[in-house]
Amino acid sequence: MFRQALVQQTRGFTTSNVAVDGFTGSVGNTPLIYLKTLSEQTGCKIYGKAEFQNPGGSIKDRAAVGIIQDAEEKGRIKPGGTIVEGTAGNTGIGLAHVCRAKGYKCVIFMPDTQSQEKIDLLRMLGAEVYPVPAVPYENPLNYNHQAKEYAEKLENAVWTDQFDNTANTYAHYISTGPEIWEQTQGDIDGFVCGTGTGGTLAGVGKYLKEKNNGKTQIWLADPPGSVLYQYVTSGGNLPERTGSSITEGIGQGRVTANLGTFVNELSGALHIPDEKSISMLYQLLDTEGLYVGASSALNVVAAVELAQKLGKGSKVVTILCDGAYRYQSRLFSKKWLESKGLGNAIPESLMKYAVL
Ligand code: PMP
Repeated sequence: MFRQALVQQTRGFTTSNVAVDGFTGSVGNTPLIYLKTLSEQTGCKIYGKAEFQNPGGSIKDRAAVGIIQDAEEKGRIKPGGTIVEGTAGNTGIGLAHVCRAKGYKCVIFMPDTQSQEKIDLLRMLGAEVYPVPAVPYENPLNYNHQAKEYAEKLENAVWTDQFDNTANTYAHYISTGPEIWEQTQGDIDGFVCGTGTGGTLAGVGKYLKEKNNGKTQIWLADPPGSVLYQYVTSGGNLPERTGSSITEGIGQGRVTANLGTFVNELSGALHIPDEKSISMLYQLLDTEGLYVGASSALNVVAAVELAQKLGKGSKVVTILCDGAYRYQSRLFSKKWLESKGLGNAIPESLMKYAVL
C-alpha cells in the first residue's frame, strides 16, 4: 500500500526510480522540509512534513487509503459498494479520489455552511453530496449521524467514521510515523501537531515513542474553540466548547477514539491563537516559499514554541497538512481578515500578499 520509493538527490531535486501503483500507491512518501529561516532564527532544527504533496492535496489521503483498505480486509465492503462519510473537507476529498480509483460509489454528508467550491470539487470527483443543517453533534440531524444512518440502510455500504474508526490512526502509525523516523534518522526531540480526528497525532506519536523508548516528546497544538488544550493541561477536565478559529480542519470538542488513551501520553499542549497562525502563514510564504493552509501555519508556530522549550539545537517535526488553495479567498482577503479581527495580526511588510 504505502510503497517505499528509492529516492536520491540530484542537483537539489529529489528523484524517485520506482513507479507506484495508481492513486493509492502515490499517497505518502512526502518530503520532510527543513524550514531554514525559522531554524536559523531559533537556533533549532524545525521540519515540516509536506502532506500537501499527497495526490488529493492533504494529510487525509493517508486516512482515506487506510480506512478503505481496512474495510476491504474485514470484508465490510465488496466491489461496487458505497463509501459514506460525514465530512466538511479533506477527508471527503481523499475518500472521493480513492473511491474513483477503486470503483466505489462515494456519498458525503456535510454541513450546509460549507463553501460552494468544496461541494463542487467533491461532485467533480464523482461524489454524491448532501448538504444538511449545521447542527451540533448532540443533534440527530448532525451530518455524522445522517451519514451513519444512510450507510446502515444501504446494502454493501460502509460508514467510514473517521473520528472513531482507528484504521485512521493505524494509517499514520504504518506510514507517516515510519517516514518521519527514517527522514530524521531517529534523531528527533519533539513532534507536535493539531488534531481533528486525532489520527495523525496518535499514529505518528505512538510510532515515534515506541521506536525510541519515549525519548521524543509528543505535544498537542490546539486552536481557539477546541477543548483539548484545557483537557490536557488540567489533567482531564472536559470544558464546554466555546469560540472558534480560522484553522479549518482542526479543533475538537471531545476525546475521539482515534486520540484515545494516547492523550494521556502527551508531554504537553500548546494553545495557539489565530493571530500567531495567520502571521506565520504569511511568513512561511514570504521566507520559505510555502503556500500552506492555516492548520499547517498553526503547527509551525507550535513547532517553534516547542523547539524553544526543548532548548538550542533541538530537532522538532510538524505537519504541513494542506495547501492554501482551498481557503485562499478567505486567507488572502483583507476584508475577510478584518471581519475576523485579524486585520492587524500580519506585519505591514507582508500585507502585500493579501491581494484578494
Ligand atoms: N489539517 C487539516 C486541514 C485537516 O483537514 C485535518 C483533518 N480534519 C487536520 C489538519 C487534522 O488531521 P487529523 O484528523 O489526523 O487529526
